[in-house]
Amino acid sequence: MNLKNLTPIREGSPSCKFCAGVGFLLEENVKNSSSGVLLLCSCVGESCPCGGKAPYMVYDESQNRMLPCVCHNARMELGKVEYLVKKAGIPARYKYRTLDRMDTTELSFLAAHDWANDIVIQWKERERIQQGLYLWGGTGSGKTLLACAILNELILRYGLECKYAKINRDFLSTIRDSYQKESELHGMEQTIKKQFADVEVLVLDDFGANKESDWANSQLYDLIDTRYEEEKVTILTSNIPPTDWKDKAEGRIFSRLMEMAKQIHLDCPDYRLSHSAFGTH
Ligand SMILES: [Zn+2]
Ligand SMILES: [Zn+2]
Repeated sequence: MNLKNLTPIREGSPSCKFCAGVGFLLEENVKNSSSGVLLLCSCVGESCPCGGKAPYMVYDESQNRMLPCVCHNARMELGKVEYLVKKAGIPARYKYRTLDRMDTTELSFLAAHDWANDIVIQWKERERIQQGLYLWGGTGSGKTLLACAILNELILRYGLECKYAKINRDFLSTIRDSYQKESELHGMEQTIKKQFADVEVLVLDDFGANKESDWANSQLYDLIDTRYEEEKVTILTSNIPPTDWKDKAEGRIFSRLMEMAKQIHLDCPDYRLSHSAFGTH
């Protein structure tokens, strides 16, 4: 698939019929990969004298020095996208999934999809978008897919640093580990919190999936409050309606959510089951 409409990168041949000038492609039918891989396009890689060996430089006899290979810029840009997607921790099945290839026949999904599109398209005019999104619905309603698609698009379009995290596994549990003397995370509480606070766009998946303790709720509040104060965008997915937060953490989480997040209820039947084959080819 060519990525022309999803990225401003133009390191390929402008007339190339495969990449439309981007320099690399998303190859979707790849064994052992549910969401495809990025491949250098033949318009830059085919006759390339460096043979794809980093740092993609070749010796130029007439100038008696090393010069960037024809493939250099395309490979660097491809590598940067791969790096950002990997660093973001997007689950394998949602890597490189984008908003343009989703079934939006369900009305509630369409509304959420529209809003996701707005964040992505209007990113540069930040005052026009809300600081958060609270996507809630049952298992398989497509909320994680949508949240990850927003991250993929922000990486492809703007090269942003993003992070995907499951609230228990990646946030609360790692903080708990940092209290354990034998853990390699011992003493790292502030570092972990800073990573979550600083990243430009954060997806918190399964927000409030478990009955949390007062300690956990106060951690959650601190996190979304810090991000709110620092004007960072936070996307939350949850099984529970926002009103369920009213009696937790003295209502502080609820009032923050009301202020910062657009709330969207996905009430489609199991999106994952009914669309399991969609978007994989
Ligand atoms: Zn090409
Ligand atoms: Zn080369």
